[in-house]
Amino acid sequence: MVELFGVSTADIDNDVRTNNTKVPLSKQMVNGFKMRELIATTVRLFGQGLMGGQLADFPKINSEYSSNPARLMGFAFGAISDFCFNIEYVRRITDKRWSYCAKANDNRVYYPYLGVCPHCITRVEKPTQAVLGADSDASNAEKESRARYFGNKIESHHVGRIGERVIVYILDLLTKSRFEDSTTLMVFDDQHDVDAAIFFDGIGVLAQIKASPLILLPVMSKLSAPLTDGVSDSTGLPEKRKDHTFTDFAASEHELSLYFSLDDTSLSIGKKDGKNWPYEPMLSQLDEKTVMKIIENWLSIYLSFEIPKKEREGEDVSRAYLTSGWGAPIDDNKTKSGLARSDNMMKGTYASLKYGAYYVQGCQRKTLKTTLVANIDPAHQYADYLEKLEDIRWGHKGDFIPVDVNDGPDIYSIEAKKLTYLFDSVFTFNRQIMNDAQLADAWNLGGFIKRLANNELGEFLEDWGSVDEE
Ligand SMILES: [Zn+2]
Repeated sequence: MVELFGVSTADIDNDVRTNNTKVPLSKQMVNGFKMRELIATTVRLFGQGLMGGQLADFPKINSEYSSNPARLMGFAFGAISDFCFNIEYVRRITDKRWSYCAKANDNRVYYPYLGVCPHCITRVEKPTQAVLGADSDASNAEKESRARYFGNKIESHHVGRIGERVIVYILDLLTKSRFEDSTTLMVFDDQHDVDAAIFFDGIGVLAQIKASPLILLPVMSKLSAPLTDGVSDSTGLPEKRKDHTFTDFAASEHELSLYFSLDDTSLSIGKKDGKNWPYEPMLSQLDEKTVMKIIENWLSIYLSFEIPKKEREGEDVSRAYLTSGWGAPIDDNKTKSGLARSDNMMKGTYASLKYGAYYVQGCQRKTLKTTLVANIDPAHQYADYLEKLEDIRWGHKGDFIPVDVNDGPDIYSIEAKKLTYLFDSVFTFNRQIMNDAQLADAWNLGGFIKRLANNELGEFLEDWGSVDEE
């Protein structure tokens, strides 16, 4: 435990409570022990995928890799962070509110994270045709409840806590790949406004983290026969359940998989079983091809999402339906990902300004930096939310000294060290604003992907991903 600005912090693998008890990795908000392994494994296999001969099978990755490798690395981290969220969401699935659909010529139930059928949403004219639970025979009370249903959500406080871990792990990996003796600390005190601090190369970085998933793969299970619901008045025989109605489902009794809407394929995660589920079944089957597919799928959806809403056409429209925060009837727009949620953008901007005024300005050695970190920036709303803020530098009124220019415009001078960036960096996986040269160098994604594709990070990733559980 380290005291930092008067609050308790701990390194990222030791969750220490105020009564000084240590919480083992597997019992924390996320299964940190396995999440580290998952991150290291997916990054390593992505690197192998870049080196291997299969790139042509993944056209989106291939095209980004030739045009802008650094941007591709960011996208890969974006996909991997969503996948980590995904696995943690899957750890929290229940036996309630699975949705039934037989439209794919078989009988399936899904555990949806959006308010629409994961299979049908990209195959119908309008999202309203894929809405879940909107039975015309439903009672008013049921319809009322449906009106607020946007998928089986996790409580937003938990999403925030999961997100901090995911982001801090990835940032730690990126930093340690360059500075092996760097230290990353998480602040567990909810009262404090710093989320994490990273020390390397003689500097300290205060991080504000705003992360929530953009793309989640729902859980799916195939049934051997149609579900039934009630009996026919005339014959007394069971009637088939209607598509897009909810059913209870004993998840631990069935083979489950993660579902890819775009190509109607899935990835097995076995039966819900044991404390390391679904990390273990996932890790045991991950190979180059699977990791490349997860990233290609994410990229296909992200690139559609990135297009401004009014300019999307054809399949870009339906692909973007698979992102969080779309609005009714698909999702609650409060669940927009990362900085795409204006609330997160506003809170993150205030936090950065406060770090600057309360800590950076007071740092005598000028070795303190700030960063706003999120999985995703405002993407298609970037020009509205962030563009005009990204390079702002500010100073206090008294530090601006009037320069005497006869009859000319008002000019002030200020000592360079008294000027502070609103953001030393806004580090997101789809775009990085790097006003500080030292941070730009440390978190250089172009350098990282080059070393990854040159097979220089294998041993590092192996070590980073295999932390022993105490
Ligand atoms: Zn359907």
